[in-house]
Amino acid sequence: MSNWYYAQNGQQKGPISGDELRTLATQGQLRPDDLVWCEGMPQWQPARELANIAWPTQQPPPISAMRQVPSTCPLCGGAKHMDDARLLYNHFVCRKCYYAFTNRRQFAYVIDAVVINLLCLVPMVNLAVLLLCAGKDCFAGQSLGKALCGVRVIDRATGKAGGFGMSFKRNLPLYIPFMPLVIGFGLSKGFRLGDGWAHSKVIWNKYKDHPVFAADKVVA
Ligand SMILES: [Zn+2]
Repeated sequence: MSNWYYAQNGQQKGPISGDELRTLATQGQLRPDDLVWCEGMPQWQPARELANIAWPTQQPPPISAMRQVPSTCPLCGGAKHMDDARLLYNHFVCRKCYYAFTNRRQFAYVIDAVVINLLCLVPMVNLAVLLLCAGKDCFAGQSLGKALCGVRVIDRATGKAGGFGMSFKRNLPLYIPFMPLVIGFGLSKGFRLGDGWAHSKVIWNKYKDHPVFAADKVVA
């Protein structure tokens, strides 16, 4: 029975038996990159080079990547729906708030689509509608649908309401055939296609000063 040593966080640990070393590996407490050594070895070597260790097929992610779900919802303050929390703009919110917001967005989108399609039926108006469609969010970041549903578009960096330029950029993908459908279904994730190059983000007026909907912090 040889004595094994292993190193973690710059500290030497052991001695332990080969069996104990294998147990640590299967439990995920010894990682493939950890250095190990036993009598007779010229130098330390990564544990993954040992022949008789059965590594778990999936290693647990590093502790630093672990995210803590708060016990109460940052928006409504309730704890009731937090057992089913959802990620919204990188914040955990309760299921109720999450769907209240995404439903508003989707509803606003449908209202705009209906209004624009109706206007398209009117002769001579349909050319103007093309422009209106792209610029639909330019009225202080709100289209008709967004105003009715209490959401608006802001600049992700400054937090200012979106103008015509931003609206045009983020609504450009709407001109690609079938893209409006794809976008409509993808809204639930927060940012949508078009928000990327327009640097925009849709927020809920009711919680407009809340960190969840705040502008991104600018990193120098
Ligand atoms: Zn909530």
